[in-house]
Amino acid sequence: MSELEELFVRAARAAADYRRTAGEVPVSGGSSREDAHAAFDLPLPDGPTPASVVVDELVAAADAHLVRTVGPRYFGFVIGGSSPASTAADILTAGWDQNAFSAALSPAAEGAELAAGGWVKELLGLPRDASVGFVTGAQGGNTVGIACGRHWVLAQHGYDVEAGGLIGAPRVRVVTGFERHGTIDRSLKLLGLGTSSLVPVITDDQGALDVDDLARVLSQDRERPTIVCLQAGNVNTGASDDFARAIPLARDAGAWVHVDGAFGLWAAAAPRRAHLVDGVGLADSWSTDAHKWLNVPYDSGLAIVRDPALHGRTMSYAAAYLTGSGGATYSLGDLVPDSSRRARGFAVWAALRELGRSGVADLVERCCALAGRMAERLAEGGATIANDVMLNQVLVGFGDLSKTDAIVAEVQREGTCWLGATTWHDQRLLRISVSNATTTEADIDRSAAAILASAARVGAISG
Ligand SMILES: *Cc1c(COP(=O)(O)O)cnc(C)c1O
Repeated sequence: MSELEELFVRAARAAADYRRTAGEVPVSGGSSREDAHAAFDLPLPDGPTPASVVVDELVAAADAHLVRTVGPRYFGFVIGGSSPASTAADILTAGWDQNAFSAALSPAAEGAELAAGGWVKELLGLPRDASVGFVTGAQGGNTVGIACGRHWVLAQHGYDVEAGGLIGAPRVRVVTGFERHGTIDRSLKLLGLGTSSLVPVITDDQGALDVDDLARVLSQDRERPTIVCLQAGNVNTGASDDFARAIPLARDAGAWVHVDGAFGLWAAAAPRRAHLVDGVGLADSWSTDAHKWLNVPYDSGLAIVRDPALHGRTMSYAAAYLTGSGGATYSLGDLVPDSSRRARGFAVWAALRELGRSGVADLVERCCALAGRMAERLAEGGATIANDVMLNQVLVGFGDLSKTDAIVAEVQREGTCWLGATTWHDQRLLRISVSNATTTEADIDRSAAAILASAARVGAISG
């Protein structure tokens, strides 16, 4: 082997070793940022260090401070693992070092994004001709979708926001549910719309938008440029808005409709769950993640827009030395907030190629079934399940909810599985997300037993 081959194999072997044991050791060694900083904070060397030494040093510095989120019993946030093919593809992505700005820089990067984007639209039931920007995550997807909405609603009022900015523009309102994801608020801050542009709509006990209240809000202030942000997959309950009713209503009111579907949009790919997002294809823009439910490595999200020309006009810039930007056909780099960027299409392509249509459906369905199994096991052991487990999210309470944080701390300390806490409708609850392709029924049963034992140890239930 050449020196370079040996180096790459060394790195790949360390990554494979890490993953092989990730499900067997505690998720986190209880390290802090300061501990990790101390491990990395070696003196800046005066001169060069051989690359193989650097790789060994890196592994040694990181290992005790890595959080094993790739393991099958990690149920925190909405994380997802990373599939073999997509992870290997990302190793190649780094090796190839392509700039995905345009086809002039990498026909391969653009070609993979075009193909993978097409497959994602097909799986999720989104319009074939929609444009797909490969962004860092659903945060980026929300920013792009709402930017396109801002462009369109102001153009309807004869105003060019990309040229004129917001000073002097008609005031845009953003109509969205009380249970929206926090990234919507950050997108509004970045886009200059501000969080005071928000007009909240009442949500039901699962966090889905009350469509009658949406109708009421839309009937007021009808002249105001309006963006409606809907949600597929509430981050606590998994609930989705009633798209089939809400989207036609919003469009009739002249609004742009954006859907934040970071993980919930993937219900569309599973025949038995697709009804949860019925009608979602009627929207104008969608944001979703590949790094959550599709189990692609970080970072990987998609910004999908029904009107490709509008998408390009909103996001692109022109420079004389660039080819393929600002013209009639847009480069894929014209659809995102970045200029130079990593080629994210290879990993998404590899993930979908490895799973196929039935594999994605199975992945989604299996996680939902496992979430249901977790809820059953915990309920049998005396827990209260606080949401309708229609997707992959489970909210759990044990009698006296003041003990919730103590249970979570005990579960994390004990180490069989990892989960976090949330506050949902004023109740402090355990929050479980089943989003990893490698989780099995045995993992669920083992984890449920560990959670029940933890609850008993802190005195929340009798053991
Ligand atoms: C995770 C999530 C986001 C943010 O996604 P990132 O990938 O972290 O940018 C936005 N909306 C919802 C509903 C989410 O679950």
